[in-house]
Parts: sequence; C-alpha cells; structure tokens
Amino acid sequence: MSIKKGKKFPYGIHVKDMKDLCRDKPIEQVPASDLVYISMSLHIGAPSVPIVNVGDKVKKGQLIAKENGPVSANVYSSVNGEVVSIEDINNGLGLRQKYVIIKNDKTDGELLFDQMTEFSPSALVERIRLAGIVGLGGAGFPTAVKLTPKNPLEFLIINGAECEPYLNCDFRLMIERTDDIYKGIKYTAKALGINKIVIGIEANKPEAIKAFEKYDDIDVVILKKQYPMGSEKHLIYCTTGRKVPTGKMPFDVGCCVHNVKTMIACYEAIELNKPFTEVYMTVSGKGVNNQKNIKTLIGTPYQDILDFCGGLNGLAVKFVAGGPMMGKALLNLNHYTRKTASGLLALTAEETNATQPSNCINCAVCAKNCPMRLMPMYIESYALSGNFEMAEKYGAMNCIECGSCAFNCPAKRSLVQSISFAKAKIKEMKQNGR
Ligand code: SF4
Ligand code: SF4
Repeated sequence: MSIKKGKKFPYGIHVKDMKDLCRDKPIEQVPASDLVYISMSLHIGAPSVPIVNVGDKVKKGQLIAKENGPVSANVYSSVNGEVVSIEDINNGLGLRQKYVIIKNDKTDGELLFDQMTEFSPSALVERIRLAGIVGLGGAGFPTAVKLTPKNPLEFLIINGAECEPYLNCDFRLMIERTDDIYKGIKYTAKALGINKIVIGIEANKPEAIKAFEKYDDIDVVILKKQYPMGSEKHLIYCTTGRKVPTGKMPFDVGCCVHNVKTMIACYEAIELNKPFTEVYMTVSGKGVNNQKNIKTLIGTPYQDILDFCGGLNGLAVKFVAGGPMMGKALLNLNHYTRKTASGLLALTAEETNATQPSNCINCAVCAKNCPMRLMPMYIESYALSGNFEMAEKYGAMNCIECGSCAFNCPAKRSLVQSISFAKAKIKEMKQNGR
C-alpha cells in the first residue's frame, strides 16, 4: 500500500461543493413503495426486453427483462408483487420509455442466485453480467463488457472522487462499507487479471482516505479538489500519469475505471448472490426538508423519496436527477429510480440560476474552463445553426458533458444542451451513413 498525491489536470474549475448539507448523515433505507416503475432503459445500449406479462406474480430478485445484445443488461424485480402494467411512459427527463409497473404485495422473501462454486475470471464476469450490473458512476455501461477488454490491462482504477457538488453517497459508502467495496475490487481485479489497484479519492474526504489505508494491495491516491476529477480520462491522468488520447478509450492505455458503488454491486452479486435491485443516492438541495443519503429500490417514485426526506419546503424551483453539474433537470417528478441514480436535488432560487441566456460575447471563458480543451462557443454555434459536420470538426464528440463551460458563462448560454444535441445528431448521421 502507498499513499500519494495525485496530479492536477490543466483547466477544469473549482465549484462550491455544498456537501455539508448531508455529508455526515449515514445512509438510510427508503421503505418500499406501493408501486415500482422499472424502466427497460436503465443503461447505455439496447433496451432490455420484458419477459413478464401483466397479471404475472413476481418475486424480488426475479428476472423481469432480459439483456438485448452485447451492450445491454438484465433487469430484476425490486419487490414481491404483481405486474399491473407494461407501458410506455414519459418520464421526468422527457424521455418516453417502456416501463414494467409492479404492485408491491409487501410480503417478505427474495430470490437469490445459486452460490458460486468456481471463481475463475470468466465465472466472475458471467455472474456480474447475469446480475445486470452497469457502471454506477453515471455512465450506465454494462460492467461485464468493461471486464472483457480486447487487450491486457495494467491498472484497475477505482473512482472515489465524487467531485459533483451536493453528492455524498459514494463518500458515505467508502466509510460505511469499506470492506464490501474492497471485496468487490478484489473480484473485479481478478476478473481483469490485474494486480495494480489504485483508488482515487478527493482530498476533501479524509475519512475515506483513512478507511482505505489499511489495505496492503491498494494504492490510495489523494486527488486535488478539482472539477471534473471524476471523469475517466482525468482520473486516469491524475492517478497514473497516463493520457488517454482523443478518440481512444481507457483500455487503450491499459486502464479500467470503476466506481465504488459498482464495486459494492459486484460484491453483492458474487458473494451474497444478489441480483442488482437497489441503488444509493443523495437527496439534497435547500428545497427539501431533510437532506439525506439513502438506499432505495430501483423503480421507486421520486415523490416517495422526497416524502421520506420530510417533503418539500415550498422553496424548490428546480429538480435535478444527479448532481448539479452533470445531472439532468427534471421536467416534473414523474420519475423513478434508475440503476445509475446518484442524486435527487430540490434546488431553491438562490441555488440555481434562472437567468435567461443572452448573446455570446466571445469572452472565451468557456474555452478556458473546458477540461477537454474544446471551444464550446463554436460547437454551440454550429449546433444551433444545424451544421453538425462543423460541430464534429470542432470536437463535439470529445465533450464529456461536464458542464464546466456553462458554469462560468457570463451570458448563461445552454452550452451543454446544445453540444449534447449535436452529439446525438452526429451519431444519427453516422448511423445513416451520412
Ligand atoms: S463563456 Fe459564454 S459568452 Fe463567453 S464565449 Fe463562451 S459561450 Fe460566449
Ligand atoms: S465543452 Fe463539454 S467537456 Fe468542455 S467544458 Fe463544456 S461540457 Fe465540459
């Protein structure tokens, strides 16, 4: 074991973290809701395919939807009960997705996998695939796919940065469930055939840094508090000094990055035989009465989560799924816990900026702040004029949607939304052969 200081990356920003709202609050379990709404699009890749019908009785831990292709994931029921509907719903993100809705009968018991008898790398990957685990740092990429790289890797890097303001659930897990994370890390390292393990933790979490000091086979890298430290490419650079070139992936430089929450899910699937049905989130913002760190079932309505946190105080003007930098504003609270959920924020007027955008003044602040060294103002301009070829030329596809550009824009331009739109259009053009 060694403890060392991580590198600093160029650009990036410093944001007021607001973590004190619930930093010291232990994780609490949210009671199961009467109805759970489980989306079939809980990950990056092809939506899962329901294998249950309306009227079917299901158990917690029962497979209700199968992965659909190599980049997809299984989905399990998070309660015991009856499937009451399978329908397309407009969720709070404005996305129309297929949901399996289950009425909870509030009975006890759950289905588990058989105990594993063989712990070879392929058996470990297969259990993680079967359990429906996806990257819980936000990306939602199926974990089993990341565990079968095309080339041998050298570093397993565990992301304990949690650089998003307001969010504390990774921090709480690192101090409340350190050993479980460690076990998940060891299984993951074995699956990958790696023995160099690094955990990167921002310096504002000294208790978490201390918690991981006891393991001889993990190097702890203390990261500067810098946003977006949790981005894969920046974390790799700050922990190992390796640079992931434009257009390349972490495995191209011998690295694989996993979030601490993903490690707990892997441990639970392998050692406790649990399908993936529960997630950890921070519920915060000054618009909610009791800010909390919570554990909740996949498919739980956001209104039930807010009720568990003492309800709203009437000051919230904006709701965000995730953190304030990379999260998505919710159109309404008709939203339900997803596998990748990390936060639910009820922000007041003083915490958010409702100013209408004005014209770009070409100040280049956005470019100075961009950790990917892009020129967001030009990409936005091309996106808005429908010139997606030029948006691509200016590197739109390299944007990690971190929000650093928009954060300090004096004209309050919606840069990330425009760039994200351009990325979707560029992908669409490529799929259609241009
Ligand atoms: S920071 Fe805003 S105003 Fe300045 S160049 Fe970028 S988009 Fe334009
Ligand atoms: S252009 Fe993309 S990568 Fe650069 S600061 Fe903006 S959101 Fe982040």
